[in-house]
Amino acid sequence: MKVDRRGFLRLGATAAASVALSPLPTFAQGAASRVVVVGGGFGGASCARALRQADPRIAVTLVEANPTFTACPFSNAVIAGLRQLTAQQFTYERVAADGITVVRAQAMAVDAPGRSVTLADGARLPYDRLVLSPGIEIRWGALPGYDEAAAALMPHAWLAGEQTLLLRRQLEAMDDGGVVVISAPANPFRCPPGPYERASLIAYYLKTKKPKSKLLVLDAKDTFSKQKLFQAAWAELYPGLLEWVSLSKGGNVTSVDAATRTLVTDFGRHQAKVANVIPPQKAGRIADAAGVADRSGWCPIDPVTFESKLQPNVHVIGDSAIAGAMPKSAFAANSQAKTCAAAVATLLAGGTPSTPKLINTCYSLVAPDYGISVAGVYVPSGGLLADVAGAGGVSPAEAPRATRAAEAVLAEAWFRTITGEVFG
Ligand SMILES: Cc1cc2nc3c(=O)[nH]c(=O)nc-3n(C[C@H](O)[C@H](O)[C@H](O)COP(=O)(O)OP(=O)(O)OC[C@H]3O[C@@H](n4cnc5c(N)ncnc54)[C@H](O)[C@@H]3O)c2cc1C
Repeated sequence: MKVDRRGFLRLGATAAASVALSPLPTFAQGAASRVVVVGGGFGGASCARALRQADPRIAVTLVEANPTFTACPFSNAVIAGLRQLTAQQFTYERVAADGITVVRAQAMAVDAPGRSVTLADGARLPYDRLVLSPGIEIRWGALPGYDEAAAALMPHAWLAGEQTLLLRRQLEAMDDGGVVVISAPANPFRCPPGPYERASLIAYYLKTKKPKSKLLVLDAKDTFSKQKLFQAAWAELYPGLLEWVSLSKGGNVTSVDAATRTLVTDFGRHQAKVANVIPPQKAGRIADAAGVADRSGWCPIDPVTFESKLQPNVHVIGDSAIAGAMPKSAFAANSQAKTCAAAVATLLAGGTPSTPKLINTCYSLVAPDYGISVAGVYVPSGGLLADVAGAGGVSPAEAPRATRAAEAVLAEAWFRTITGEVFG
């Protein structure tokens, strides 16, 4: 059967899945092996492309539920009205143009012993190796009162898209003088500095548009990423407007009441005009179905190959993976994707993958012209990825505003570069 790759991409989910049911199309003569990648985000799309680069004989199929990817990095700027959601959205045309079969469908199950993935319409995709990069799933109900209906009133906005716009609209609709409350979860969760960047940019919005308002951040932790830098910037930029309440000061939210937008802690009740609840999370749902998530809800992996410690021939990258000291970030997912692709190509060719060195850099905006960053280098150690002491670091504590402004420009450049690499 002859399949035009771009035509394949344009097919609807059912049709695409049905085509995929028949023997997978082979795009290079003498294709060595079949790799299926589930999840076309920062990890999955990067991995699919890196696999094709590592060995063009590998037939790579990318299974993604949505026709368009909506990126979380910089989505906090959308919430603060500084950016449009369309600037966050990317299609899979260039990915398909690399010779990757893009199947628009939800992967529902994995038969690890039989090496196949089942799609929503029942179609099965056989594989030699499978890579899962499904991102996160909200742990509905883990925070009492917070279910999908509650998220329509108290948005999490931790999966970019409609939730991002809902939170923005709620802020825009709020009268000046209202109280905005953000609740931040305990570790681990997607994007450790994310809640604090969000608090900063919402504070910026309030300061410039609704200066009589207040922002309360209720936290389930006593410490957080880039804390000293954030707190110094808050003292400088948002005094009296933004208040952070740590775990030990009563910040842990124990339940919510969506109808009254109330967040309950051990120390009291906070009624919000706008409430952004960032709830506990776990690996994307397919990880559970594939049997690669452990009791923590996340996926233990071998740090050299990213192969699951629970199922052979299944690799897990990105937010879903337990990557030790490496944070759950787009940069980390991209870095892991390349390492995993190289390892998978080597394993399929009968070789032994070499020990990788991975990097991560995370920029955060405290205001549109005020950026801060953290960077790290990670190597396999004791079955996990460990931080290489002294190899990373954070922005200097004392720095002129010009340095912060330069980092804000770098943050934007970082976003353009990574999205260009993954989707462009
Ligand atoms: C507010 C916010 C700000 C952030 N800022 C930054 C930042 O500045 N820098 C940074 O590095 N990181 C940032 N992040 C983190 C970053 O978004 C994630 O770490 C990154 O997206 C993880 O990549 P991933 O591939 O694991 O998951 P994702 O990028 O979420 O991709 C998962 C994909 O899998 C698909 N999928 C899931 N299940 C299935 C299935 N069963 N079948 C088919 N498709 C499926 C989804 O539709 C999705 O497209 C931020 C996150 C948030 C929430």
